[in-house]
Amino acid sequence: MSDNCLFCKIAQGHIPSKKVYEDDDFFAFHDINPAAPVHLLLVPKRHIVSMQAIQPDDAQWLGRMMALAPQLAHENGCTPGHEGGFRLVINTGIEGGQEIDHLHLHIIGGPRPWDKR
Ligand code: 5GP
Ligand code: ZN
Repeated sequence: MSDNCLFCKIAQGHIPSKKVYEDDDFFAFHDINPAAPVHLLLVPKRHIVSMQAIQPDDAQWLGRMMALAPQLAHENGCTPGHEGGFRLVINTGIEGGQEIDHLHLHIIGGPRPWDKR
């Protein structure tokens, strides 16, 4: 938990969100400003600033995070299969367009059209 981190506060339930998933390590919720019909954010509960802070030791939980993404996508309205699908995005750093400094995976999808950003 980092003081004044929005996603730490959301993951701990101190700030309300539309939660779709929670376990010991992860928390997922709807993005407040969705870029598509489905737009979820999957965050580790532990405060990690960005992908630039990732070390080799983090590979296991990071792999679990990626493996959760298709499950959450399909449970929340992304169409399964080749004709469906979704985008997974991790904005990293200022030049990477990251606005919230707590690592998060965007899960973006649902019926087209929507902007491919
Ligand atoms: P970033 O640009 O850091 O990759 O993405 C941050 C995302 O967090 C944006 O898509 C933004 O809409 C979302 N966001 C910012 N503040 C809040 C909030 O208070 N609640 C929720 N649910 N999403 C937020
Ligand atoms: Zn945090």
